[in-house]
Amino acid sequence: MIVHPQILEAFDLKEADYDALRYGSGHINSTIHLKSKKRGKDYILQRINTHVFKRPDIIDRNQRLAAAYLKKQAPDYFFLSPVPTVAGPCLFEWQGEYWRLLPFVKHTVAVNQADNPRQAFEAAQQFGRLARLLSGIDLREFQPSIPNFHNLTLRYSSFQDAIRSASEERREAAEDLTEAFLNYSGIAVRFEELKTDKDFRDRLMHHDTKINNVLLDDKTYEGICVIDLDTLMPGKLISDLGDMVRTYVSPVSEEEQDFDKIVIRDDYYEALMQGYLSELKGDLTPTEKEVLFYAGQFIIYMQGIRFLTDYLNGDVYYPVKYPEHNYNRAKNQLTLLQRLNEREAALRRIIGGCL
Ligand code: ATP
Ligand code: MG
Ligand code: MG
Repeated sequence: MIVHPQILEAFDLKEADYDALRYGSGHINSTIHLKSKKRGKDYILQRINTHVFKRPDIIDRNQRLAAAYLKKQAPDYFFLSPVPTVAGPCLFEWQGEYWRLLPFVKHTVAVNQADNPRQAFEAAQQFGRLARLLSGIDLREFQPSIPNFHNLTLRYSSFQDAIRSASEERREAAEDLTEAFLNYSGIAVRFEELKTDKDFRDRLMHHDTKINNVLLDDKTYEGICVIDLDTLMPGKLISDLGDMVRTYVSPVSEEEQDFDKIVIRDDYYEALMQGYLSELKGDLTPTEKEVLFYAGQFIIYMQGIRFLTDYLNGDVYYPVKYPEHNYNRAKNQLTLLQRLNEREAALRRIIGGCL
């Protein structure tokens, strides 16, 4: 693919020295592998999606603050920092679009789903390590790259608004599902309670802990580093932990329409808890220890009502391939929540064993 030479020059690279190839299976940004033609260093060049990220400067600032802190605090830790432009900042604006450059990490893979518990362990350990090393950072300097991203209070009230304003057709079609989610509103109530608990501390969280946001060694599958730091911002432990539960534990994703395939794999659950807590258990507050099971409920519930909200609103946010797509995604997440709740006692025992 063609990248304008000026973009490369901004980072002191010459167009003639690289092949530019589309890379990876990210959905948000445009990711390009700059492959050196002269056995030099390879890079990842990314165009930031400004529909999702209205303030790329905040992403850049958050990442640089974290990088500077880690350099002092944990000099041996491999944190993938963006490469600065010749002008100094790590972002280059070109015709209204924002570009950044990262070192290409060779001999690694990003898997789109966990194929065995070991991969879940390795990925979770990487996210846990990042959280642990950043535990002492001053959060006041950070801003959210997506405001209210995991604010269940707001998501729940948007859900209620959508129920009121939905077309009659969609409201009726989704009646059972809406009621099922409303019956789980205790999950939202719990979040309200937690917000007043000072032990429910803020932390710098990754906020997108799906497994392909960790690079694994392409031979040993050992965790190498965390990538995709666009949503590295202040948040709560339940965000990162919960999204791992949501995306690693069931063998199928939110896109699956055969809901019988949605099952809780205890061994994956255990592996990810082991991996995450092997890094973080010594750093958790009593409240954080209490919410380890709740984390999965929180994220699955929030994702479920976000899909259902979008269905009720007439599919304005998530891209859909057919009219019931968001409805099915919501139902899928509801099923996952039910399966998780059915296993609560066993999963809590697993958590106990990891602490
Ligand atoms: P998402 O859909 O998860 O938000 P994204 O569009 O934000 O993804 P990234 O996750 O940053 O994009 O990158 C997409 C893919 O490119 C990764 O999953 C990984 O396979 C690959 N990749 C990204 N950065 C690097 C890197 N520095 N070295 C090697 N591969 C990388
Ligand atoms: Mg990604
Ligand atoms: Mg991303």
